[in-house]
Amino acid sequence: MPRLLLLAALTAMSALQAGVVLNAQAAQGPTMTPFGKTQEGQPVERYTLRNASGMEVDVSTWGATVTRIAVPDRNGKIADVALGFDTIDGYLTRHPYFGSTIGRYGNRIGKGRFTLNGVEYKLATNNDANHLHGGVRGFDMRLWKARPVSGGADGQSLELTYVSADGEEGYPGKLTAIVTYTLTPKNALRIDYRATTDKDTVVNLTNHSYFNLAGHGSGDILGHELRLDADRFTPVDKGLIPTGELKPVAGTPFDFRKPTAIGARIDADDEQIRFGGGYDHNWVLNGEMGKMRHVARLVDPKSGRAMDVRTTEPGVQFYSGNFLDGVKGKDGAVYQKRAGLCLETQHYPDSPNKPSFPSTVLKPGQEYRTTTEYVFGIEKAK
Ligand code: BGC
Repeated sequence: MPRLLLLAALTAMSALQAGVVLNAQAAQGPTMTPFGKTQEGQPVERYTLRNASGMEVDVSTWGATVTRIAVPDRNGKIADVALGFDTIDGYLTRHPYFGSTIGRYGNRIGKGRFTLNGVEYKLATNNDANHLHGGVRGFDMRLWKARPVSGGADGQSLELTYVSADGEEGYPGKLTAIVTYTLTPKNALRIDYRATTDKDTVVNLTNHSYFNLAGHGSGDILGHELRLDADRFTPVDKGLIPTGELKPVAGTPFDFRKPTAIGARIDADDEQIRFGGGYDHNWVLNGEMGKMRHVARLVDPKSGRAMDVRTTEPGVQFYSGNFLDGVKGKDGAVYQKRAGLCLETQHYPDSPNKPSFPSTVLKPGQEYRTTTEYVFGIEKAK
């Protein structure tokens, strides 16, 4: 049944009956609709994941991209809180990585070079002299193979696989990457990342969704309140490459240990803020890397929508959308500077050149495994 008709029918039912119908639908697994074609003419698919609370997430096989996240506010009103495009066309050429899966390496590798086992590898450079988000054609610009997994107690899942050739964008080793999206009954969008390689390589996968909890296209995110469970961050040089230092956030505009409006210090007279044009930095997350733990909470005080982030990763790139400059997005929206923000869970940028940072090396026989959850909820009015 079309979703709108279904929702109309559900409103006419008792809450109990409606719950039963949504539960039955959630148990079926994600549904697929065609999403156009790549420039080479290959068909692109878009899957919808649903749960019994009425939350929905759309994921496209192009770039294993999250194209829509529909969640209720404190009055039950649903809005799409993810920036993106209505059609495949917006996603096919370079865009700000809206909802993209980023690989083989999230964020920057200085001068696009690193040395592994005594061999220097030269990567594609696409950010001045540096390598950013996997290069000229990263995992966001590749067609992934989808396998819908029918909903169990954990919710509906979609597994996406991409095999990155040895030498692609300059990286050694054939890498098989598997990203599984699960929408749980408790409104968590869980992302499980796995990868294996046939030669020593480096890998750092993340998701580049831009969130605006008031709804995409509803203005800037400066009034959102953010908490980051991080005592330190990795300061950068003017090319946004970490200096290697782990600097305490205390007494700086980077201290989000208590919920703070993003706009409160975003234009502070601070060298690091100037380098990023706002926030565009990696925070060193508290707690033990490899263990799933709470690391961030984002709240839109007006709508009451809240999002908690849990991850096994050691870092998160909080990017406040400083480079958005009037991108034409979904439903006629125009995304201006800071219309959305990213919380990209990751290993620290430029780790392949920073021996003191946690390692991003993956060897044959090992499995790369990380998990991140974006958990949507409600914050009561103050
Ligand atoms: C980077 C920004 C970059 C953006 C791309 C972020 O992860 O840190 O510097 O401009 O992605 O849109």
